[in-house]
Amino acid sequence: MSNFKQVCTVPTDFGVTFTKLKSEKTGLTVMLADIEAPLVNGYFVLATESFDDFGCPHTLEHLVFLGSNQYPYKGVLDSLANRAIAQGTNAWTDVDHTCYTITTAGSEGFLNLLPIYVDHILYPTLTETGYHTEVHHINGKGEDAGVVYSEMQGCQNLGDDRLHLCMKRIMYPENCGYRSETGGLMEKLRELSVDKIRDYHKSYYRPDNLCLIITGKVDQSELVKALEPVEESIIKNGPLPAMQRPWISTGDFPNLEKNIEETVLFADEDESMGTVLIAWNGPKCTDFLTQKELEVLNTYLTDSPVSVLQREFVETEDALCTDVDFHITDHLKSTLMFTASSVPIQEIEQFPSELFKTLTRLVADKEIDMTRMATVIEKEMLKLLDSAETDAHDTAAAVAISDFLYGSPDGTDLKEAVKDREYLVMLAKYTVDDWLQVLSKWYIDAPRVTLFGKPSAEFAEQQSHEETSRVEKQRADLGEEKLKELQRELDDAKAKNDVPVPKELLEGFKIPSAASIKFINVTTARNNDKETVNQVQQHINDDSSADVPLFIQFDHVKSHFIKLSAHISASSIPAHLLLYTRLFLKSIFSLPIDKDGKLIAYEDVVKGLGEDTIEYEATLGTSFGFRELAVFNLKVSSSKFEAAIQWLRDILWNTKFTAERLKIVAAQILNDIPQAKRDGHDMGNATMRALQVDPKQSVNAARNILFQSTFLQDTVKRLDDDPSSVIDELNEFRSHLCSPENIRIHVTGDILNLKTPRTAFRDFAPAKEATKALAPITLAKQVLKAAGLEPGKHGILVTLPTIENSFSLHSVKGPDRFDDPDIAPLLVMIELLDTMEGIFWKLIRGQGLAYSCFLDANIESGLINFTIYRSPDAFKAFEQAKIVVERLANHEMEIDNASVDGAKSAVIYSLVARENTMDRAALQSFVNQVLKKMPASYNQDMLIAIQAVTMDDLRRVLNKYFVDMFKPDTSNVVAISTPNKIEDIRKGFEGLGFVIKSVVLNDINVDAF
Ligand SMILES: [Zn+2]
Repeated sequence: MSNFKQVCTVPTDFGVTFTKLKSEKTGLTVMLADIEAPLVNGYFVLATESFDDFGCPHTLEHLVFLGSNQYPYKGVLDSLANRAIAQGTNAWTDVDHTCYTITTAGSEGFLNLLPIYVDHILYPTLTETGYHTEVHHINGKGEDAGVVYSEMQGCQNLGDDRLHLCMKRIMYPENCGYRSETGGLMEKLRELSVDKIRDYHKSYYRPDNLCLIITGKVDQSELVKALEPVEESIIKNGPLPAMQRPWISTGDFPNLEKNIEETVLFADEDESMGTVLIAWNGPKCTDFLTQKELEVLNTYLTDSPVSVLQREFVETEDALCTDVDFHITDHLKSTLMFTASSVPIQEIEQFPSELFKTLTRLVADKEIDMTRMATVIEKEMLKLLDSAETDAHDTAAAVAISDFLYGSPDGTDLKEAVKDREYLVMLAKYTVDDWLQVLSKWYIDAPRVTLFGKPSAEFAEQQSHEETSRVEKQRADLGEEKLKELQRELDDAKAKNDVPVPKELLEGFKIPSAASIKFINVTTARNNDKETVNQVQQHINDDSSADVPLFIQFDHVKSHFIKLSAHISASSIPAHLLLYTRLFLKSIFSLPIDKDGKLIAYEDVVKGLGEDTIEYEATLGTSFGFRELAVFNLKVSSSKFEAAIQWLRDILWNTKFTAERLKIVAAQILNDIPQAKRDGHDMGNATMRALQVDPKQSVNAARNILFQSTFLQDTVKRLDDDPSSVIDELNEFRSHLCSPENIRIHVTGDILNLKTPRTAFRDFAPAKEATKALAPITLAKQVLKAAGLEPGKHGILVTLPTIENSFSLHSVKGPDRFDDPDIAPLLVMIELLDTMEGIFWKLIRGQGLAYSCFLDANIESGLINFTIYRSPDAFKAFEQAKIVVERLANHEMEIDNASVDGAKSAVIYSLVARENTMDRAALQSFVNQVLKKMPASYNQDMLIAIQAVTMDDLRRVLNKYFVDMFKPDTSNVVAISTPNKIEDIRKGFEGLGFVIKSVVLNDINVDAF
């Protein structure tokens, strides 16, 4: 007889049914969400409350992965996860909960791993030595380090984090957990001890405070059976004292009594743009209707270029910001937040009064556009269906987590939480006055916190100076002897942590057969294809009343929606126009349209798109690359298929560039640049792209943010002086791009239910001279510069004062054909090196040399890229990676069979995960067949090739590709660093023979390098 009793089953409006179970013996809760999909997800949640900034919840999250009572080995969980056909594990710490996650292909591996994972959560080893390396230590040089410490060093002083912490300190009182920094502040982490974390674990990591949320297809009786050993071990560990449920008594707190304003400085040399954050008290999280009211109102106010706040603050000349955004926190009592990004610093102080002038005007003039409000509500309904198709696991998990933290144990609140449709129906009946009342009550009349986030060069300088002198003093205070001792302690801790996992343990964990994994079924058909035989092709061929001389691929999947995409080859755009790419793509969906000689205003275009589509965008490439193609996507309900085709036609050919719109959009891009330039990893990528890809041939290279400042400033000036020169050039850009022979159309959805899937396109392309042959697809490897074609001898070092650590990127030559037999062993080798608890993980992250590092074999460009992410000294991490690869290459270090099996199974997982939803499966079908020109079975074939990889294959690719990554003659390097570390990094790379050139971001232009 099972310990688990069913508490409730709750069907939802987004197509998922929840079943809640609770153990009568141990209090452990299980929430099953039944979802038809190839993947099974686990979200194991604990309510974690903390009243200080020592970061116990976050540090504990890290330590759980270092081993458990029954499995006392660091990394065993991740190694076993791979064997369960997953790609490692993950976790996050929010202010009110900690969540451990795992996703497996199929349920067999999931159920095998479940008891081992729970043993880690409830009974982790929490050793002193684990604390030492994973949380915080002082190394032999007197510097503070440790994985968590470095992680917090990477974010604690960023502008957004400083703003949010300041907001919390004002909003929440001393005795309220929402006030704390659960990640741990650096100054507190330096004082933390493992005992404090052990105490925290004892208080909160208990079966009656743990909920196992499982989404996907899992048999309930098998699940309960898999939990039997968990129940036994909990019972064996003896009864626990009664526990007060976290948050229920502390999560409510007094409302703000008056308005408060404060300025928060953050480090940046560029002082031109800041952030405004406004916060108010919100409703209780179980007040679902009010929450929905606010969500709908927020969307109405900000969701499109014609929404009130975007129209008046973003989409104008002299815009006051580049984006406006509302957010509601998911706490017992919520907090409402409004953020305006990239606010010009000279306007920042007056921003709030302008905002409230607008909001009060809405009330005074009763200015709510009820037609648009109806569209917003209608669209929220469609989004419920859409999220069930594209994001069912996470949607279900978010509801379940909130319910576990704050809902009634018997499931009453859960039933109310999932009535989204019912609430939206009620909101559809609201009057103008009802909406204005919501606006007044929560945003206008309620007291608020207003924070001005301002960049400061002086603050950057001061911060850097203080940190340097603190470390110097620490070093001096400790003295040479003590430092040596600390280094010995550290080495000792590392050795103790790295006890290898017994081979028998790994090999005893059965790998489920890959044959049991199901891909989502996609049926493909083509326009004008007389050879293919299937039901969908037949349906297309039956629709034959007109000539349609277009390339169209139809991918049939079960869906309520149709996705229409035009993938357009950009290779015929002349070099002198390529810098317009960013402006063209960002403006194209918000321009007036010339409809049979009648001009439709841009506001009406945006409104119309809002009514007919659930999403639309213009971008380069897909999530699988192919960024030399401009891609226009529209997603609509199936009934609006023909409207979508008409929109796509209008967008491509009938939009009118106007000086007014172009100036506004150009200013938005310009204003976002300072913010973008604060991100070390992104700027490393941008610099590498500037080095390797030719902006005179490549749209993807030309839209580089680093090239856009000068170009757009000049464009804005020309729009004032001689607008037609810009407009003419953009029209020229369009006429080159949107030529029918460049266009490949992709239609995804329930094709069999479309009456005229083919002839709906009869008037799509403008009548032209004789149809030309379809233009070939330009691949990334065809637009490389010399430095990208033959990597080596290029090293670039960039100083970035906004970051407190460093990043580096490295490129070498790799295979460049999609059917290259090296691809399968490369994927397995990459998995072995950079997987969680893999080789790099243990020897780089585990040594505190970087937060993470990862490899990517980019077949399209023929380059293999290696990234060192957030490191105290990127060179040291690189040097370590070099040693590791060399030792593997000359057999000083061996790879064992168990690891190879685990890596293969993780790669198989990643192939399945790429196709885990219907629209992803359909996109994959198009990418494989049309862009890569491979058979539809490409991924299934790869799966077989992965399983067949041998140890010899792995050695071959290691020697052929990876060894070159560390040689100056065959590898390019871009490093980006905080000023303090720049000299160390330079000397390091130069010591290995790399030629390093220092540059500042502002100097990188189209002709650089
Ligand atoms: Zn972390």
